[in-house]
Amino acid sequence: MSSADIAVATPADSPESRKYNRIHRWLGIADFGLGLALLIVLLATGWNAQLRDLAYRAAFQNYVLALTLYVLMLLVISKVLGFGLDYYGFRLEHRFHLSNLKLGAWLKDEAKGFLVGFVLAAVVVDLLYFIIRQFPLHWWLFAWAVFLGLVVLMAQLAPVILFPIFYKFEPLQNEELKARLVKLGERAGTRVRGVYKWNLSEKSKKANAALTGLGSTRRIILADTLLDNYSPDEIEAVLAHELGHHVHRHIPKSIAVQAAITFVGFWGANWILHYSMERLHLFETLSDFANLPLLILGATVLSFLLMPLLNAFSRYNERQADQYAFRSIPGVAPFISSMNKLADQNLAERVPSRFVEWFFHSHPAISHRVEAARAWGRTRPAAPTAAATEPR
Ligand SMILES: [Zn+2]
Repeated sequence: MSSADIAVATPADSPESRKYNRIHRWLGIADFGLGLALLIVLLATGWNAQLRDLAYRAAFQNYVLALTLYVLMLLVISKVLGFGLDYYGFRLEHRFHLSNLKLGAWLKDEAKGFLVGFVLAAVVVDLLYFIIRQFPLHWWLFAWAVFLGLVVLMAQLAPVILFPIFYKFEPLQNEELKARLVKLGERAGTRVRGVYKWNLSEKSKKANAALTGLGSTRRIILADTLLDNYSPDEIEAVLAHELGHHVHRHIPKSIAVQAAITFVGFWGANWILHYSMERLHLFETLSDFANLPLLILGATVLSFLLMPLLNAFSRYNERQADQYAFRSIPGVAPFISSMNKLADQNLAERVPSRFVEWFFHSHPAISHRVEAARAWGRTRPAAPTAAATEPR
């Protein structure tokens, strides 16, 4: 890419990309609305209590087994109701030529996702009600501490246990890229523990990269769809961005933010449960798990209200990681071209509306990221080493 290319304005979004993103967004909203409606219907009709009685009968009155069955029933109902939307989402990716996933493989992934979700939910919920029964007075404080421990544990285990259920990973073999990464790490005064090739192409045509894990499982993962189609300079720019997340400690910071939010969340859950018992007389005891839909409803509403705030926090982190990348690579041209390639490949909206970016986007719009790179490039011309990439 020549320096002249950098001056070219951000291309406008194609009607195709606008359409894809619009449908994708509405699909998310419909899915959210359906979940919300289900919870409200369960609570308003009293089916939440009927399902509890059914679970007790099927579990021969054993509390833990009944609770686990209750979780399973809620998940099955929600899956059956939402399956149409899920299938529409699968078709949507194909319609816009973004998917390599066959129907059979998709169904297998759906089944795997459901099982993983059930196991995780059953563990969390059984633990929660165990704590409620053991410490009825200060359960929310204990539950918060245990939940936080689980979040840290999951952050650590996800790259080695959870992600491999759905994708194959292997250590990056490319020596040139590895050497570049070591250099980036040295400049940052840190050591990256691992870079892995993420076999995304068997499922998707989209490209992606991420920093994942915590402590000894911390690693950068790069999709093969990126490794195969981007120049070494572009991949270096992506690596530098991911390294920026590490240097700025974004994963521990996100966990700290989650800790603060869930503290308020669990306190609020306690308040809601007591209010529903003492004022509304909906339940007789705290440990009556027919109140689970009410807890989920509270968590859903809270996370919806906090979404713009959390997305703003995430966009702030992304900008910081971008700035880090600008500082660590010789010139910003490969960063800009990688952004444009990503936008094309993923059919991302370069210029979403202000509202859409503010409410929905965890990353700044591509146009803003490119603008920031250009601004950086204007104040700091490419270092001499970048001259090698310029045409003579
Ligand atoms: Zn990022």
